[in-house]
Amino acid sequence: MSTGKINVQTENIFPIIKKFLYSDHEIFLRELVSNAVDATRKLQALSSLGEFSGETGQLYITVKTDPAAKTVTISDRGIGMTGEEVEKYIAQVAFSGAEEFVNQYKDKSDAVNGIIGHFGLGFYSAFMVAHKVEILTRSFKDGTEAVRWTCDGSPEYTLEAATREDRGTDIILHIADDSQEFLEEHRLRGILTKYCKFLPVEIRFGEREETSKDDDGNEVKTIVPQVINNPSPAWTKKPADLSDDDYKAFYRELYPMNFEDPLFWIHLNVDYPFNLTGILYFPRLQKTLDAQRDKIQLYSNQVFVTDSVEEIVPDFLTLLRGVIDSPDIPLNVSRSYLQSDANVKKISSHITKKVADKLEELFKKDREDFVKKWDDIRIFVQYGMLSDDKFYERARKFALLRNTEGKYFTIDEYRQHVETVQTDKDNKVVFLYTNDTEAQHCYIHSATERGYDVVVFDSPIDPHYINFLESKLENTMFVRVDSNTVDKLIAKDDAQPSKLSDEEKEKLKPVVEGIVPKEKYTVVFESLSETEAPMLITRPEFMRRMKDMSALSGGSAGFYGSLPDMHNLVVNANHPLIYKIAQEADAEKQHQLLKQSADLALLAQGLLKGEELTRFIRRSVEMIG
Ligand code: ADP
Repeated sequence: MSTGKINVQTENIFPIIKKFLYSDHEIFLRELVSNAVDATRKLQALSSLGEFSGETGQLYITVKTDPAAKTVTISDRGIGMTGEEVEKYIAQVAFSGAEEFVNQYKDKSDAVNGIIGHFGLGFYSAFMVAHKVEILTRSFKDGTEAVRWTCDGSPEYTLEAATREDRGTDIILHIADDSQEFLEEHRLRGILTKYCKFLPVEIRFGEREETSKDDDGNEVKTIVPQVINNPSPAWTKKPADLSDDDYKAFYRELYPMNFEDPLFWIHLNVDYPFNLTGILYFPRLQKTLDAQRDKIQLYSNQVFVTDSVEEIVPDFLTLLRGVIDSPDIPLNVSRSYLQSDANVKKISSHITKKVADKLEELFKKDREDFVKKWDDIRIFVQYGMLSDDKFYERARKFALLRNTEGKYFTIDEYRQHVETVQTDKDNKVVFLYTNDTEAQHCYIHSATERGYDVVVFDSPIDPHYINFLESKLENTMFVRVDSNTVDKLIAKDDAQPSKLSDEEKEKLKPVVEGIVPKEKYTVVFESLSETEAPMLITRPEFMRRMKDMSALSGGSAGFYGSLPDMHNLVVNANHPLIYKIAQEADAEKQHQLLKQSADLALLAQGLLKGEELTRFIRRSVEMIG
């Protein structure tokens, strides 16, 4: 037996290692299992290169917990280490890596808490949970003997000859008193499923009963080791070798709690200028953007790294699901660094391009099917267009608009569709839209009767999208269908006649102003066609957009929020009824008729409520009588 001293420059880093990665102690298991995987793959590589001529046999990793002995053991059948190698790799190389890491981050534990999971603290992360660590290992090289390395968390360690039947390594962790949770089977299973679910070497943990039939047809039960991972997940295979069902099955494997099939998927496979594989799935999306993110899982050589990928892919892509695996994404750096990393930028623009390719391909190949999926993906496409100009350029070809008749158009098709009828006197093409086909029914009806087309924009992101399209499309404006009377929605030159003279209007105006609250309604006289209602409530497009924007940016605060919420009460100066009311000599009766007409207009907009509504109903009943 020999003793040695780890070459510590920082006096005793073990307490620091132990204390500081507070919330992420569990990653010790990922680190140690990854090491076991590396050792196993090295053996496979040596074997295929002919540098190892022995039998590799079945290669697997075993994780065991022994609550009585208070140990957790990770065993592999990989290359193992000689005594010299243990001194070199464990006591020197690995240690200096851990030391460097700790020195860099010991004062910033709060700031790095979120990214700590990305770090490879390596072998020494064992000391986050163990008060003593043993390595029992035997090299694959002929004629080497097994050794046991023991270290109790101080810089001193012992190294002695030992016996191990087979090549490979056992890492035996003597779990510390404050880390007893890691002796519990379900806790370890949870960690293994999180980080090791797709590691490329079989990982055995616990046992399960298997039923089979013997030669005489009797059922026999045998206890077999339970494998917790899928060593060859779909993304590591060739697309040609996978069927639709394989992709769907893998989706369920990734998201077991999710019962809906994905709409479609993209298999990513890049090897230049960086390495990246993965599968991105399009789920059916809700109308809102919340609570749907953080579903893409990032792996590095099949080791789970994180499921918060915001700094690697653009925000709109986080609405998708699936897996990205890249050994080239630098994992041991901070978030802000990642965002400025050139490789990460390339990865992100590559993924964006692939997504656009796929959508365009689907659109071109089977438009009917694409239309069926559109409502489920449109929030994604719109968000992408809003946030990424390159994506917008691509999406112009397949982003769809739906009109109130349920017909779908690309943006250019739609512009052509309405161009002839809906061009105003200044030669602007007017897109009439509704955000609520039920509530704005009578306005839509008037517009379509007039031969206009109305497009539906009813998602929470649409107010932004409308502003955005308006800025992108030349000579085009968007007007909500209830923002003006149908005659004025699209300003034309032809003036309507007016039954009321200017004098009569002057006289009637103060009377009408007396029947609605001044701070809410501006009374205007307009000459509309006779078929229009006698009075109408409209809300100017500008005013409404301001209000929508303030609602989207979080409530009524700020400049827009302080604007009054004004509507117009439009009096149709060309309506026979208004003409009749204007001639009415009995002031009280005139007032009553005007009130009744105004209430009808309010009712059509859903603005008549409470006491006013009760009075309206009573008055109507009286009038019928
Ligand atoms: P890293 O894996 O990043 O190199 P570690 O601290 O995890 O750093 O491990 C240090 C070294 O110890 C490894 O590079 C490897 O040479 C050796 N090692 C660790 N675990 C094993 C193992 N299970 N089998 C063989 N060698 C191992």
